[in-house]
Amino acid sequence: MHYLDHNATSPLRPESLASLSHTLSLGGNASSIHARGRAARAVIEDAKEKVALLAGAAAYDVIFTSGATEAANLALAGAVEGALDQHGADSKVARITRMFVSSIEHSAVLAPARRLAERVPGVRLETLPVTVDGVLDTEALRVALREGKGRALVAVMAANNETGVIQPVEEISRLCREAGALLLVDAVAAAGKIPLDASLCDYMLLSAHKIGGPQGVGALFVAKGAPLAAQLVGGGQQGGLRAGTENLSGIAGFAAAAHAARDGAGERDRIAHLRDRFETQLLQAIPEAVIFGADAPRLIGTSNFALPGTASAIALIALDLDGVWVNAGASCSSGKVAASHVLAAMGVELALASCALRASFGWNSEMADVEAAITALTKLRQRKTTLEAA
Ligand code: PLP
Repeated sequence: MHYLDHNATSPLRPESLASLSHTLSLGGNASSIHARGRAARAVIEDAKEKVALLAGAAAYDVIFTSGATEAANLALAGAVEGALDQHGADSKVARITRMFVSSIEHSAVLAPARRLAERVPGVRLETLPVTVDGVLDTEALRVALREGKGRALVAVMAANNETGVIQPVEEISRLCREAGALLLVDAVAAAGKIPLDASLCDYMLLSAHKIGGPQGVGALFVAKGAPLAAQLVGGGQQGGLRAGTENLSGIAGFAAAAHAARDGAGERDRIAHLRDRFETQLLQAIPEAVIFGADAPRLIGTSNFALPGTASAIALIALDLDGVWVNAGASCSSGKVAASHVLAAMGVELALASCALRASFGWNSEMADVEAAITALTKLRQRKTTLEAA
């Protein structure tokens, strides 16, 4: 079997599994003050350091969550409510009145942003366009930030999970700082692939299972002083910002994966080589194939492409029968392939977008995976040519 779906979830790294199962058998509640509790607390403190190193975060609070979706919900609603609380306590502190999200954000960010705008009076939401290469239009952001009163909250991902296109976070950060806006960066797809610098933003999201850690664990980095109101309330865990007993073994597995992902310079070179070989061979075998975002800086492991005239759903099934596991270029979180909002934002016609596929390589990918994928895609294309000729 050839697993080329690391952007959906990356298989558990052996280091992560070892750390996860060791901590699971160790047990202990990090809030208990006896020796077992203190050992559990030490696991969490060590994990904070390892995950913070991956995020390039120094003076940040790390809040462990059940994944990046929860971290995004906490950051967005927490920022809006937290700013309201600060405003209530000190009338000179501005409320958040405008949210700007890029049109290529993951639904984990888009959906809570939309819901907040619907539910919180006085908060407006605008989506920001991207270029045909899938890069945020920073001029549009600059203009948007100039208008309106109150504080703005901007959400832009470090790199897109569908196309791998890397976003100009430094420039976005500069524009936000100049305008006094808060910035949330979804670094889920970029983590472990490119260096991250959490000091450029106020909130950063990470997810363990995209870097070879366990599913159901994520982290939110919050800059010192950035507004944040708790969304899950209960016990006083994590400074009262996210109640509930920490997922100790999941956090330990996350830390081990973060350490391995950050360490892996050789691994990154190998992944980059595999992706490049895949694309070169794809274009040789199927010259009419289209690679999305190819002219923009992209993450090493991601290839989003289309075979014009072959619907994603058909291709997915054919490749699956050949033991090659890729994804549709569009999100399919519900098990159904829907048209990609990312490709639509890049101006890709629906007919072509509905043929999009994503091959994503990761820590355990090999050249045999590239070869199997090219063989299966070539076979699929030959079958289509034969059917058309008949
Ligand atoms: N952000 C991006 C860019 C993602 O790709 C994903 C997962 O697909 C998420 C957020 C949500 O992460 P999680 O699965 O940890 O909730």
